[in-house]
Amino acid sequence: MRRAVLHLQRSAGVLRLVADSKWRMKRLLILCYHGVSRFDEHLWRPRLYMHPDVLRQRLEILKQGRYNLLPLGEGLRRLQAAELPPKSVVITFDDGGYDFYAAAFPVIREYGFPVTVYQTTYYSDYQKPVFNLVCSYLLWKGRDRVLHNPKELGLSDPLDLRTEGGRMHIVRKLVRDADASNLTGVQKNDLAAKVAKSLDISYDEIVSSRIFQLMNSSERAELAAAGVDFQLHTHRHRTPLEEGLFRKEIQDNRHSLQKLGETAIHFCYPSGVYRPEFLNWLQMENVVSATTCDSGLASRRSNFFLLPRLVDTSARSAVEFEAWLSGLAAFLSVRQAAPQIIPAAAGRVSRNSDAAQSVLVKDDGRE
Ligand SMILES: [Zn+2]
Repeated sequence: MRRAVLHLQRSAGVLRLVADSKWRMKRLLILCYHGVSRFDEHLWRPRLYMHPDVLRQRLEILKQGRYNLLPLGEGLRRLQAAELPPKSVVITFDDGGYDFYAAAFPVIREYGFPVTVYQTTYYSDYQKPVFNLVCSYLLWKGRDRVLHNPKELGLSDPLDLRTEGGRMHIVRKLVRDADASNLTGVQKNDLAAKVAKSLDISYDEIVSSRIFQLMNSSERAELAAAGVDFQLHTHRHRTPLEEGLFRKEIQDNRHSLQKLGETAIHFCYPSGVYRPEFLNWLQMENVVSATTCDSGLASRRSNFFLLPRLVDTSARSAVEFEAWLSGLAAFLSVRQAAPQIIPAAAGRVSRNSDAAQSVLVKDDGRE
């Protein structure tokens, strides 16, 4: 029904009217992307990975609609100074996967649009697949199977991979057990290799394909020289509830990014999760803005440490995307907060809903 209404309104020129309105001119739309597929990742998790053709379609809509694409820092400065051009949009990518280097940026470069990458750095320094993602993907690859005798994986029951719920349960158990045992990055990688072996999948091929790996420092340097803006996303893709540990995440992340030249001052909450105390800690680390995964357009009155974005996924139709660009969708939906996580007693965090999977991107690699 909502899509039908959107169609109707577009044909009536309402989208154009809203897009050209004074209301929209005072607002900045910050787009959020995650992965762009190089293989079949978009079939595995369509909310996390987008086919490059869909990305191209989005950029074409931005071009045809004459939207003003601004670099993040400039967009925020001009928002604050009430000097935005009409129809302002900023493009951001979370995490900084190798797929950004290989699949996303080549398309963006064709359009000449500015882009910011919120780069998490642990797996950028440690060039192996992100543990929770590769485990989930491997199990999906074996989705017609039931694994008997999975003792090698530290699991006892037969593992039924035929349903999404079943696979998710196993991934959570693997991640939880790995965290409880304080496994190092190397040990987690060994465990992922065992998961692959139990499914007769070549882990060597997975590793050499660079799937679920992050850009390394030379790839980042190459893109930085081509104009890509790299900003903060924590070192280990996590936000500890203890001030010292939280601030260390920012410091380690910034230290790794510093090699690119400019000091990173913009931040994005990993998995869109924030708490009131984080805002203070970010300010103490001289961070000047922070984006969430809550839907909306930013205005001058927005809290610059809780900036809304539009998380764009393959699940969103082109019409819906246009409705967001114009600003109309902001009228049709109340600001939607992304799922948050609840701190558990032991100081670790646990996800409070399955919906969190859509924004849960990387696990917290331990050194
Ligand atoms: Zn992230």
